[in-house]
Parts: sequence; C-alpha cells; structure tokens
Amino acid sequence: MAKYKVTIDPRDNCISDMVCVSICPDVFEMNPEDNKSQIVEKYRVDPNNLAVGIVPEDLKSCVEDAANACPVQIIHIEPVEE
Ligand code: SF4
Repeated sequence: MAKYKVTIDPRDNCISDMVCVSICPDVFEMNPEDNKSQIVEKYRVDPNNLAVGIVPEDLKSCVEDAANACPVQIIHIEPVEE
C-alpha cells in the first residue's frame, strides 16, 4: 500500500487554530508545550522531529483536507517512493 510523507513546515508558523486537528485527528495533535500542531507519535519517523511523519494511504485524503484548510499553508503531503 502506498505511503505518504507529511510535513508541517515551517512548524514555527503554526497559528494554533487547531483546524488540522479537527479535520484529521488521526495524524495531527497540538503540542501542549508550545501549542503548535505536531504529527502524532504513531506516525512520526524521527522522535526528535515533531513535524515529519509517514502515513498510510487511507489517511491521505484527510491530510489533504487539512493541508487545504490550514490558513498558513504549512502542511505538505507527498508520495513516498517504495
Ligand atoms: S491548521 Fe495550520 S495553523 Fe492551524 S493548527 Fe494546523 S498547522 Fe497550525
């Protein structure tokens, strides 16, 4: 099954409106310390990077919806080469 790389970049630009979390809570959550969006732990690829994840195909459309709705357009999704 295809996989997709999701990035929140630049994460510092997040304005904490929680739009992505409400649209796609399986992938995005708010960080309680800096109050910015992050990838949920399950899909993070690097424990030291809160802004990058790999998600399965069934989550592609909700990530795309979140990316389109993000007011500062910092959510990106691209296919991962197998
Ligand atoms: S939709 Fe964009 S600005 Fe809003 S919380 Fe998510 S990443 Fe941050």
